[in-house]
Amino acid sequence: MTTYVLLLVAVIALVQALAFPRRAHVGVAKAEPLAEEQAEAVPDSSQEPSSSESQDPKGEEDLSWRDADFAVDPNRTDWNENGVDRKVVYLTIDDGPSENTQAVLDILDRYGCKATFFVVGHNPEYYDLIGEAYRRGHTIGLHTFSHDYETVYSSVDAYYADLDAIGQVVKEQIGYVPCFIRFPGGSSNEVSANYSVGIMSVLVDSVRERGYQYFDWNMSTGDGAEHTADEIVGYATQPTEYQNIVLLCHDSATKQSTVEALPRIIEHYQALGYSFEAIDRSTIVTHHGVNN
Ligand code: ZN
Repeated sequence: MTTYVLLLVAVIALVQALAFPRRAHVGVAKAEPLAEEQAEAVPDSSQEPSSSESQDPKGEEDLSWRDADFAVDPNRTDWNENGVDRKVVYLTIDDGPSENTQAVLDILDRYGCKATFFVVGHNPEYYDLIGEAYRRGHTIGLHTFSHDYETVYSSVDAYYADLDAIGQVVKEQIGYVPCFIRFPGGSSNEVSANYSVGIMSVLVDSVRERGYQYFDWNMSTGDGAEHTADEIVGYATQPTEYQNIVLLCHDSATKQSTVEALPRIIEHYQALGYSFEAIDRSTIVTHHGVNN
């Protein structure tokens, strides 16, 4: 009897291994970072048939719970000011989608990383990558449509008109307007004072009253300015005591060096025992001081 049971278990394991080889791989990728040469062997998920979403071709966990949980909701105030008790990097990628987004997504997949994209409306030809990023398990946040300081910060109404515009773009791609936002320039920006004195002090409260939550960052890749990949890696991997890192980087046509730096940044933190997770409602709320 025992022999029969063991045999049955072995057969089931074999069948599962044959039927779900990628599921087995995903488990390994989460447990320990892939070395570069191993990573090359990972099938390119962009070649998955897009028409078979309902079949869950990648064998990944069901993430449909996010649709209701992440939608903007003025009645929810259950934010986490203290963070989570494990080493996590929340990689936040601003200003996309762009022609670099696909490369970023593939790097994230290769290392088993999740991230958060705070998107803008600049590149309609890449809007479909917002949906693609979401389906791959990343979080989509709003960064305003125009990202033009003069427009966005000319008045509170103008800010919301711009936020709503990107909210509708995102809704078309993922089915709802997400609650996660990032202010252009961060909540600590001083440039908004050129267009509307005191507007950030108003917005930081009013966005939360409307059910959004804004996320600043506690570490930066420095890629807002022009830097080489080596310099970006240097900024991004400075020694830190933070257990929860919200790391700022950018995704636009000119940010090729960020794409180049990303694998080394990921490898650095994975070697230190950090996991890369997408922002959700349990993520540490990181706020800068308001200067306007
Ligand atoms: Zn930005």
